[in-house]
Amino acid sequence: MKHNHDLRCEDLLGNLSNFIDGELDEGLCDQLRQHMVGCEDCRVVFDTTTRTIYLYQTTAMRPDLPNDVRERLFDKLNLDDLKNKNA
Ligand SMILES: [Zn+2]
Repeated sequence: MKHNHDLRCEDLLGNLSNFIDGELDEGLCDQLRQHMVGCEDCRVVFDTTTRTIYLYQTTAMRPDLPNDVRERLFDKLNLDDLKNKNA
């Protein structure tokens, strides 16, 4: 019987920013990826977070971006889903 190295959702979420930044060692990255294979909730959070970071980076490079365009971009990401999840 093999050991169960499955992470819990809290473990994944607690390491999420480091994971996205590439600051975790490869073994832990593998565990996080394996968790996401079987956990749709964490996949959604990961997906939303990476898109949000991408969007922030994009808008940070484009300070001239009109606010209404920015808002539409954020709307597209369905960030309300994430907000509700954390509520
Ligand atoms: Zn999970």
